[in-house]
Amino acid sequence: MTSPHTLPTYDHFIDGAAHPPSSGEYLPTDDPYTGKTWGRIARGNRADAERAVQAARTAFDTGAWPALTASERGRMLWRLADLITAHAPRLAEIERRDNGKLATEVVSQVRYMADYFRYYAGQADKVESKVIPTDKKGVFAYTRYEAKGVIAIITPWNSPLTLTSWKLAPALAAGCTVVIKPSEFTSASMLEFALLFEQAGFPKGVVNVVTGLGKEVGEALVTHPDVAHIGFTGGSEAGRAIYQLAAKNFKTVTLELGGKSPNIVFDDADLDQAVKGAVSGIFAAAGQSCQAGSRLLVQRTIHDRFVAKLIDFMKDVKLGDPADEATQVGPIATRPQFEKILSYIEIAKNEGATCVLGGRSRPDLGAGQFVEPTIFTGVRNDMRIAQEEVFGPVLAVIPFDDEADAIRIGNDVAFGLAAAVWTRDLRRAMLMTEKIKAGTVWVNNYRATSFTSPFGGFKESGIGRESGSEAIREYLETKCVWISSDLDVPNPFVRR
Ligand code: NAD
Repeated sequence: MTSPHTLPTYDHFIDGAAHPPSSGEYLPTDDPYTGKTWGRIARGNRADAERAVQAARTAFDTGAWPALTASERGRMLWRLADLITAHAPRLAEIERRDNGKLATEVVSQVRYMADYFRYYAGQADKVESKVIPTDKKGVFAYTRYEAKGVIAIITPWNSPLTLTSWKLAPALAAGCTVVIKPSEFTSASMLEFALLFEQAGFPKGVVNVVTGLGKEVGEALVTHPDVAHIGFTGGSEAGRAIYQLAAKNFKTVTLELGGKSPNIVFDDADLDQAVKGAVSGIFAAAGQSCQAGSRLLVQRTIHDRFVAKLIDFMKDVKLGDPADEATQVGPIATRPQFEKILSYIEIAKNEGATCVLGGRSRPDLGAGQFVEPTIFTGVRNDMRIAQEEVFGPVLAVIPFDDEADAIRIGNDVAFGLAAAVWTRDLRRAMLMTEKIKAGTVWVNNYRATSFTSPFGGFKESGIGRESGSEAIREYLETKCVWISSDLDVPNPFVRR
């Protein structure tokens, strides 16, 4: 076994420099395919969080950053985007080694991430104030949108760099400074990414990264009095805890949480296209995706035919090494997640659902942290397999009778992140997009997202929106300024 001291070691990144953890402790970072520990990351604590927030606060209040114009901040973001493009293969390789996503997918994700920074580079100097026509005479009133301050960004392991960028790009465009806490399972790519900020011209302390456990360093950031806003992506449990902690100091939050998204196939749909949509909905990234279409609602008239087509499409799917370009489904990113998925497969069987595809782990592949693409039929919407987020390659197929039935089942869940509808009928498509309670509804496609378009959840899938022109507002405070043009200040004791 390799001695821990020969492993690549990642310290915190605070005020433009590497900082060893104040506890002196490190956490292992593992390759989910080989099962081997390939590096170690700093195990942060409250003292490390304090130091990072202090650096971000100082950079927000003093020095070069607050002196920049919005256009200058935009130019920095554009330079950063060019550096991301140049370093994409290296960043993607580190990320793949940490979370086991397919190499091809991670490279295109990291390349696409540069476009988020370009989009918000353009947004930086387009936040326009308003002159407000008021009902008062002799005053001039207008709004100013001012950066909130220090933002804590807390992210999960499934797409570490992308999900950080969704928050980081608008936060920096708005003029905020940040402390990022990536997932303890996948911190390395973020620490490598942090090294690009100085090259792009960002002053020290504008972007800081602390690593470690949610309870130890994450909560210390959330409760820090100098953190103005928390941008979080992750599970409902952590989201709920963060929301409660943030409420104590009236901090604002953006929460992107989980989903149990309905992918609804009507009998008038192009079924071959809908099969591809169902597969990409649930089996892309081995189902480890917040927007996974994990409930497949199929009209009863085509149910058996559609399920047969789906199974046929999946029969030659290749599981294996995510670095291999031929691989179509990679490993599960973390051991606890692997065990959670297997436990849900047992739950579904015990609830009476029928496993028609997969349902097993694959000990013969890599270190064995694989789950076969799995399909359950005979699922009722009140079963746990239909109500709870599995976050793995497990599909629950639920039959429905008509539009009203599809709407009822589609909405009968605590989440509301996304949904899709497959139909050739325009009236039906319009009706469904109106009635389904979700932040994103796709018609005859699944999974499209863009830096130009708002993304976020209804109900327990979250609060606020990321991406698109409105997202920058999450990082800005609105101030209203009143200027009097009256020479005389009214006497408050004289009735007017
Ligand atoms: P998680 O909620 O366990 O952890 C996410 C992050 O929060 C990690 O960095 C973790 O250390 C931190 N954290 C945990 N508890 C905390 C606390 N009490 N205070 C502060 N920080 C805390 O999620 P995960 O297991 O890393 O990721 C999987 C989950 O993320 C899934 O439920 C999935 O649906 C969700 N997710 C949502 C989206 C989205 O955009 N809606 C995207 C990806 C993942």
